[in-house]
Amino acid sequence: MRVFLTGGAGYIGSVCVEELLNAGHSVTVFDDLCEGHRSAVDERAMFVPGDLSNRVAVYHALKESNAEGVVHFAAAALVGESMTNPGKYFGTNVAGGLNLLDAAVNLRIKRFVFSSTCAVYGPPESVPMTEDLPFRPINPYGESKRMFERLLSWYGTIHGLEFIAFRYFNAAGASERFGEHHRVETHLIPNVLRVALGQSESCAVFGTDYPTPDGTCVRDYVHVSDLAQAHMLALTSEKSGFYNLGSGVGFSVREVIKVCEKITGSQISAIEKPRRPGDPPRLVASAEKAIRELNWKPNFPEIEAIISTAWKWHKQNPTGYVD
Ligand code: UDP
Repeated sequence: MRVFLTGGAGYIGSVCVEELLNAGHSVTVFDDLCEGHRSAVDERAMFVPGDLSNRVAVYHALKESNAEGVVHFAAAALVGESMTNPGKYFGTNVAGGLNLLDAAVNLRIKRFVFSSTCAVYGPPESVPMTEDLPFRPINPYGESKRMFERLLSWYGTIHGLEFIAFRYFNAAGASERFGEHHRVETHLIPNVLRVALGQSESCAVFGTDYPTPDGTCVRDYVHVSDLAQAHMLALTSEKSGFYNLGSGVGFSVREVIKVCEKITGSQISAIEKPRRPGDPPRLVASAEKAIRELNWKPNFPEIEAIISTAWKWHKQNPTGYVD
């Protein structure tokens, strides 16, 4: 299939591009490189630099690509930043996404796969979380993704767009070639691994008074290659709708640090800090629907295996991508 993929220079997008190409699809990557890296784009893909806010550029790039399906990763994706700069989140994730959606509909592209997030739910009353929970996002990031999900539903009803929106839990790990490198790193696992690499003295633990067994936030970590596999299934599926993607098991911040210590063989100094605004205490997926309906089979169900792949990539690429 000819695929138009936004955000293909970013963390999850780059791995998805690689997997699509390995499976014989052809891929055009559209990315403004504001967060992604040119060298994270597989050289077998066609690269088109461009910004989602430029409606004309989005339309022309999509038309030129002759795509049969769209995979939309490009987004502003930091919970903490969304609490201080909400306009960036509604602008990029809703208004920018709408430019792509309109272009897809105008060009009669029927298949659309969207990167959504478990942040659309907000703090759940119980875990594991299924897709029928109420939507109570507690940060503009989750709200903006939920707004785009609503647009997809309306475009499905009115224009017949067939879409799948994946609500990711916490993406982690790396492929052999592509891994996680943010210009300003805010994510837990890469920050902990930086300590093991000797690049920082210590990592932070944001909040130790949450209503969880050890007082730190619990998250569900899912391997980036497993996320990529789900996108491939979605492109060729006949289903439309919303699917959680997670491993179904939660790990606290302290537990993640312990696993990192075990895998790296380093002692990791962790400093307790106040809670980070916008963080729900506990997010754990039920991915039963994706497993059942899309035949999704995660290859990395264990956190040790997930973190091992991240560690391997960071050791091989200690300064990340060189652009
Ligand atoms: N976290 C932390 N120290 C860090 C980075 C993150 O304690 O240096 C916590 C964060 O508050 C959250 C969890 O780790 O509870 C996962 O955060 P991350 O930013 O990796 O992903 P998010 O859940 O925000 O998508």
